Amino acid sequence: MRRVAIVTGGSRGIGAATCVLLAVEGWDVVVAYRSEAVAAAAVVDRCGAVGARALAVQADVGEEADVVRLFATVDAEPDFGTVGALINNAGIVGAKARVDELSAHRLGEMMRVNVVGPFLCARQAVRRMSTHHGGAGGVIVNVGSAAARLGSPGEYVDYAASKGAIDTMTIGLAKEVAQEGIRVNCVRPGIISTDIHARGGQPDRAERLAGVVPMQRPGKAGEIAAAIVWLCSDAASYVTGALLDVSGGR
Ligand code: NAP
Repeated sequence: MRRVAIVTGGSRGIGAATCVLLAVEGWDVVVAYRSEAVAAAAVVDRCGAVGARALAVQADVGEEADVVRLFATVDAEPDFGTVGALINNAGIVGAKARVDELSAHRLGEMMRVNVVGPFLCARQAVRRMSTHHGGAGGVIVNVGSAAARLGSPGEYVDYAASKGAIDTMTIGLAKEVAQEGIRVNCVRPGIISTDIHARGGQPDRAERLAGVVPMQRPGKAGEIAAAIVWLCSDAASYVTGALLDVSGGR
């Protein structure tokens, strides 16, 4: 039976690159997305072109009913096996702002998407993967951020704090399910060239900040995908609870 990976935020950026690389490595792929259906369909086509089964599913990760429906859709898909990997990748940043400028609405949305979402998805995955629940084991990779240790002052401390929560969730959940066949790890990207910067109102951010990176360049989505896919593989069979910085030395 082929293995199935669910990638949240699979329609664009790091998630899209991860979907395609998982497909190349022999996984079937669920491309979960919030609103960009055309982009998600293009990723499905790219996965299919390398021989994988792939399916796009719309789901807002911060909405419990959507997350429950996402996993139920995969359960009901006759061509798919059971879920073997969850990539908790979907995430947002806000506009550049100081803490003394943040609204309660923005803070709520940041935590809903970046923290509650990964928790809800991890909950559904553990219920299927854990040997405690009759599952066959699996892998969860959380996409955190170097921001969790840098703090992002003057830019978005709220985002950095949401990623700090992801570090902690990784450490705690990894220990909680270590004896149940599930490995849980976190990849912490540095500055990566994707749409996320434009959506946060800073389209030139990745190139502008290249000089603060020891390697003097932003990373590429594929360079993060490679780390995620390695953590999903049997080559990482003794790696759990790890926070892996992929940040050009920053
Ligand atoms: P991106 O290009 O903006 O893509 C974001 C993806 O997340 C899209 O597929 C989007 O779906 C999805 N998404 C957003 N909100 C969602 C929601 N509420 N429910 C479901 N899906 C949602 O971002 P990216 O740069 O690839 O970032 C991916 C992850 O890496 C994020 O967790 C981000 O925090 C982290 N990260 C990025 C960087 C960087 O420099 N790029 C650095 C550190 C960490 P739609 O296409 O449907 O909108």
